[in-house]
Amino acid sequence: MASVKTMLAARLHGPRDLRVEKIPYPGEPGPGEALVRVTEAGVCGSDLHGFLHGRIGDTVLAQAQIIGHEFAGVIAAAASGALDGQFKTLKAGARVAVDPAQSCGHCEMCERGAPNLCLNLRFCGLPPVPGCMAQYVRVPAHTCFPVPGNISDTTAVLLEPLGIALHTTDLSRVRVGSSVAVIGAGPVGLCILQTVKLAGGGPIFVSEKLPWRLALAKKLGAIPIDARKDPVGAVLKVTGGRGVDVAIEAAWADETVQQAAEMVRFGGTLVVVGISNHDRLTIKHSTVRRKGLTVLFVRRMKNTYPRAIALAQARAVDLECLVSHRFPLARAAKAFVLNTEYKDKVNKVVLEMGRISREEYAEWQVEHSPQAIARSQEALAEYRRGHYRTIEQLKQESESAKEPTD
Ligand SMILES: [Zn+2]
Ligand SMILES: [Zn+2]
Repeated sequence: MASVKTMLAARLHGPRDLRVEKIPYPGEPGPGEALVRVTEAGVCGSDLHGFLHGRIGDTVLAQAQIIGHEFAGVIAAAASGALDGQFKTLKAGARVAVDPAQSCGHCEMCERGAPNLCLNLRFCGLPPVPGCMAQYVRVPAHTCFPVPGNISDTTAVLLEPLGIALHTTDLSRVRVGSSVAVIGAGPVGLCILQTVKLAGGGPIFVSEKLPWRLALAKKLGAIPIDARKDPVGAVLKVTGGRGVDVAIEAAWADETVQQAAEMVRFGGTLVVVGISNHDRLTIKHSTVRRKGLTVLFVRRMKNTYPRAIALAQARAVDLECLVSHRFPLARAAKAFVLNTEYKDKVNKVVLEMGRISREEYAEWQVEHSPQAIARSQEALAEYRRGHYRTIEQLKQESESAKEPTD
């Protein structure tokens, strides 16, 4: 091991307060662990939730947290005899994609074959587990999946959303000739489009309001539906009023869930992948009941990395076309602002850990000087007074929302 004592990491301190800081590096791997030198990391919709609100669902940020969970890297060190996700000895120097979900392997749900519902689940980037937007991260060796030479670091990062798409496709039971509507053409929606197509689904409609994302969906084989103009009416019109066999909500799980329900045929299936900004699912009871819909929720994925790797290796999916922007780690805050504003034809944003120009480093130093941090803290406090609750308030709210115990 090189004598790395500190590293750069993107830590979230509160809503809209992401700082790239020098912190102690995570140290040598413990038993069964690997130390990964991260090469690239993806910005995910759930990271954007964290950035905007300082929490994801019930998980509230209690202290500065390294975020991020979609990543590729190189094994810097592995505990002796530690096995990778393919049950082979994990060796230093291996290029890997990493499954951010760390299931325990011995709880009821793990034993039932649903590690995605593990009762003791730890997750990269969710408190208290450090995320991947750092130069190094320590993870269980079995979450590391070596990738072949023809899979780039960027593709390896995108195996995570592809894994979610595979799990979604499995759950939805799409068959050859099933008609499908996907709502949302973000990176996950576009991965789902590709896996549903591979599973034999078709026609596949993709509804999206950002025109550049819709254009990409069309290029990948979807029938594009402009979400800004009555997407339900459009799908019903093309299907002669019947609706589709399966509708998959892969946006922000807001009014799009109801849209998806209205797009499905009687007796069809509605699959919810998106995460709601307000932690509420809004759907008309009568729509679901009268149609006798089956409603399914996607929670993570189940051992999909080996399949995702095989698909990427065979070039059966195109993942790099999803990437619209690349930033060095030091510019993470800028990357998040761009992503949350949905500007500049943004789709997938990737952070590169190893690359930084002299100018970018100088910019980072100025931005992260003690004076600049103090200034941004003041601005943030003002901002929160107007728009956001403080972390303390969020914590109190989530405490009081818990069920009273007898
Ligand atoms: Zn993700
Ligand atoms: Zn478990």
